[in-house]
Amino acid sequence: MPDVPEGDPATSVAVIGAGPCGLFQVFELGLLGIQAHVFDSLKVVGGQCAELYPDKPIYDIPALPVCGAQELVDRLMQQIHPFKPQFHLGEEVTTVLPDGAGRFTVGTAGGTELSVGAVVIAAGLGAFQPRRLGVPGAEAFEGTQIQYRVRDAQQLAGQRLVIFGGGDSALDWTVALAPAARSVTLVHRRAQFRGAPATVARMRELQAAGRVQYIEGTAESLLHDGDALHGVRIKGNDGIAHEVHADQILVFFGLHPKLGPIAQWGLALERKALAVDTEQFQTSVPGIFAVGDINTYPGKKKLILSGFHEAALAAFGIQHYLFPQKKQFLQYTTTSPIMHKRLGVPD
Ligand SMILES: Cc1cc2nc3c(=O)[nH]c(=O)nc-3n(C[C@H](O)[C@H](O)[C@H](O)COP(=O)(O)OP(=O)(O)OC[C@H]3O[C@@H](n4cnc5c(N)ncnc54)[C@H](O)[C@@H]3O)c2cc1C
Repeated sequence: MPDVPEGDPATSVAVIGAGPCGLFQVFELGLLGIQAHVFDSLKVVGGQCAELYPDKPIYDIPALPVCGAQELVDRLMQQIHPFKPQFHLGEEVTTVLPDGAGRFTVGTAGGTELSVGAVVIAAGLGAFQPRRLGVPGAEAFEGTQIQYRVRDAQQLAGQRLVIFGGGDSALDWTVALAPAARSVTLVHRRAQFRGAPATVARMRELQAAGRVQYIEGTAESLLHDGDALHGVRIKGNDGIAHEVHADQILVFFGLHPKLGPIAQWGLALERKALAVDTEQFQTSVPGIFAVGDINTYPGKKKLILSGFHEAALAAFGIQHYLFPQKKQFLQYTTTSPIMHKRLGVPD
């Protein structure tokens, strides 16, 4: 039986989600000689580990008595390096369309389209989205005068900025943008900040020097003349309403996951999770598999190590889907010459 042709585009698989389980899926596919394209709506890999708790220690990864969450992601990236996955970061997958001949076209919000042999959904809790400002009419200015991330700091020079939030992003940008901005107003709903103490101290210095205004309160409404936003009304915690001029409003309320388009792909769902079998972790649509927090089956536990197990079995399921004639047998990474070749280790 000929081996799976490595890197053959006809056999490549789309992995949706670059959390720990999606990354380990790349490894398990790579061991079987199957190339992966990895999509994530975030610009960074690591899913919840990188986004929600990068500095926290994890104690239940086998053989690693303690491992930082970001360290786990870094180790996974190192482990999959030999398989040269192609990353499509900052790209939310919005469509997965069967072509009727067993293959799929994966489409993203940014317009990328890719034809693949199979799909693994490793989307965790869903695509992370920024928490929005939440005042009437804000959508009309999102992407122009209301931003949820800074794309180009230089463009903000000389502008009047109102920054919302109390975590690291809001504080870091307040401190970074204050020197070049025309004015910076930081708005946070309570007195305690969640950011690094050194950055809070720097922000307070800038406030004392008159470079930053600070208001404890929440956004109430936008001030605009039709298409042009010129400010925001803040309801202060002290009961005073403040009207603050703004050319740009920057909002850093963090990210929240959204199942989003996955619910529209015609896959069987159980309580917002994808129903899979426990032999190969295939969904109700042949050729579409699901691993990690996004799936459900009797006894499911949302743990990283469960997702790793699921990825190993899903890889065999995918191999069988792509190459039904191929005889499957288990090889050990310790002794298999073909796996050594794929891993780039000398025999
Ligand atoms: C504070 C905290 C502590 C934890 N501690 C532990 C622990 O000690 N041990 C343990 O085992 N587990 C722990 N967990 C749980 C663990 O983090 C999750 O089980 C794990 O992250 C699931 O990995 P995943 O790859 O399935 O999904 P995720 O990590 O959620 O990653 C999914 C990725 O998919 C992306 N995505 C979703 N939809 C799309 C789409 N349509 N297009 C493109 N990208 C998409 C998301 O942006 C995300 O990056 C903890 C969780 C939290 C919040």
